[in-house]
Amino acid sequence: MDNIINISQEDHSRPSTPEKEPPNKKVKVARKKRSWTWEYFEEVDTEERTSEKGEPLKRCKVLDANGNKCGTYYVNDGSTGNAINHLLNDHEITNEGKKKNVGIFL
Ligand SMILES: [Zn+2]
Repeated sequence: MDNIINISQEDHSRPSTPEKEPPNKKVKVARKKRSWTWEYFEEVDTEERTSEKGEPLKRCKVLDANGNKCGTYYVNDGSTGNAINHLLNDHEITNEGKKKNVGIFL
């Protein structure tokens, strides 16, 4: 009898090799991931303007309906909370882009 069914030959006899570690070892991330808010903000040259404490600033570059740049300054301290709030509250922009369903003019 020749037709021995070759039951999927799972190789249990193989010695457990230690090389099967998951590949997601900690890799040094060289580049900073920039927040999505940077789509709407620009860094302000410290030569041009800084905060009262001399901190670098970022400026909102969202255009309003008239094409005027918003120009609100925030301290560029690496946190994005204030920028996110500003975009959301003043421009109705979220990390998914401009909110749909804008346009309720009552
Ligand atoms: Zn703005």
